[in-house]
Amino acid sequence: MTKSEALFKEAVTYIPGGVNSPVRAFGSIGSTPRFIKKADMVLIWDEDDQEYIDFIGSWGPMILGHNHPAVFDAVVDYAKRGLSYGAATKIEVEMAKLVCSMVPSIEMVRMVNSGTEAVMSAIRTARGYTRRDKIIKFTGCYHGHSDGLLVKAGSGVMTAGVPDSLGVPAGCTQDTLSAEYNNLDSVRMHFQRCPEEIAAVIVEPVAANMGTVLPEDGFLQGLRELCTKYGALLIFDEVITGFRLQADGAQGYFGVTPDLTTYGKIIGAGMPVGAYGGRREIMEVVSPCGGVYQAGTLSGNPVAMAAGIAQLSILKSHPDYYVKLNQKADRFFESIKEMLKERGLPYQVNHIASLGSIFFTDQKVRDYDSAKTSDTKAYADYCNYMIQHGIYLAPAQFEAMFISMAHLPDQLCHTLDLMQAYFERK
Ligand code: PMP
Repeated sequence: MTKSEALFKEAVTYIPGGVNSPVRAFGSIGSTPRFIKKADMVLIWDEDDQEYIDFIGSWGPMILGHNHPAVFDAVVDYAKRGLSYGAATKIEVEMAKLVCSMVPSIEMVRMVNSGTEAVMSAIRTARGYTRRDKIIKFTGCYHGHSDGLLVKAGSGVMTAGVPDSLGVPAGCTQDTLSAEYNNLDSVRMHFQRCPEEIAAVIVEPVAANMGTVLPEDGFLQGLRELCTKYGALLIFDEVITGFRLQADGAQGYFGVTPDLTTYGKIIGAGMPVGAYGGRREIMEVVSPCGGVYQAGTLSGNPVAMAAGIAQLSILKSHPDYYVKLNQKADRFFESIKEMLKERGLPYQVNHIASLGSIFFTDQKVRDYDSAKTSDTKAYADYCNYMIQHGIYLAPAQFEAMFISMAHLPDQLCHTLDLMQAYFERK
């Protein structure tokens, strides 16, 4: 038995499912989670001393790689001053100014502790600002685990919210309307049905939680127009895309301006941070300025702020890093496409900037239904092979692969060689 297997056996006795977040259980690939003990740049090591090239990067935040010296030094420096005061600090002001300077649509920003909190708070803000209750979300987009957003749209675009989890009262999701990603008609229908009741449309501008699914031409612009027309707010959930596609995230990349934006882990360089922000007049409804209550003992934690500022400052001052990263990632994903084509394998590779996914289906993947045609057993087989050979991939089909600025050409070539060896067996 490996040390990871032994730890997992013990973990399930004390932690539900043995993990503190479900996808870590490796359930969908039917294997044992690797218990990770350390990371450096793009390498991670498990308790059995197996080394991996990491393509998860803590699910996104490690855009500079693990343990970047500037981030590490900032954390150590701030940790020496005490871990939390529950009081206003200079470094929070610095962080807010930095975010506002990098993302033109953000005039004010509030720090929270996770992406879930950021989205939950942005929705409340949108409701408070518009004095409306309903929201529209897209099937297959994930926005954290708060009650009102755990809605599976299922079959029909007109389906009213049905809770996706036990423990979510139906009342919590009755104002959550589901629409289909890349389908503006499905959004328009909701607006036509209740033109004055919809507070906000929330979208992952690039969906990364049904695997990577790109917005088609005109989709995000169309959402912007519908929201403006009906007086609803457009919320971009940039927990994955923010500071990743480029410094001003997906909104800069696609040239579409949301009213509110939510961020998560990447803003804290891996520390537990989230944030939401937008136009001043909207953000001023948040307590103690306005009547939308939202709070957090550890929000704006100084050590987390120090880590985040160190990472964001580097990203802000080196726009060329994004150019290099995106070119490198583009070559990598295009090579996978080429490899599959040469072998006559009809699988799909969706990618943008440093995010991408392979879907084991012959159908173009553009929404939840097409993503679901992917053969998850085939993904599990591929993923287990790669992990066994030292390539750490998301242990589930409906996730993304993250390339960081620290991935070296040799490491990417080695990964491609292993993929080639795997696909040659097909
Ligand atoms: N929104 C999106 C787009 C996400 O991908 C996630 C999680 N990866 C969340 C929200 C929730 O973030 P967290 O896990 O930090 O609560």
